[in-house]
Amino acid sequence: MEYTDAPSTESQAGGANTMPCPSCGTLLPKGAQKCNRCDWTRADTETAEGKASDAVAVLLSIIPGLGHIYKGHKLAGLLWMAGAIPAGIFVLLAAFASAGFGVGLFFIYLIGVMLHAYAIDDWAVPVKDDEGEQY
Ligand SMILES: [Zn+2]
Repeated sequence: MEYTDAPSTESQAGGANTMPCPSCGTLLPKGAQKCNRCDWTRADTETAEGKASDAVAVLLSIIPGLGHIYKGHKLAGLLWMAGAIPAGIFVLLAAFASAGFGVGLFFIYLIGVMLHAYAIDDWAVPVKDDEGEQY
């Protein structure tokens, strides 16, 4: 399991078959798609969480690939991580050749990773919807 901010609403109250409305706190059936007291819908919450995780993904991209894995793109994350190794070697060689200046090239790689981590869709949130089924 990974640590995400998704399950926090489930652990608050209400037992196994209910969940509080994230907006007004009304107890709703677990997995409810919308609230019948306010205009909360599940889709709204998911887009909000997706936005929040964009920022986290960018921060995690300090380690190339980690932001992608956070968003659920494990394969893309591994590819970015794998790409960081030859990129790192190349940057080291460039740094030796240019007396340290080449280290800046790695930041270009990092910026590329961060932009990509920010831009890709969030896969981590929508998957776990109703039942807590493990794959
Ligand atoms: Zn509500």
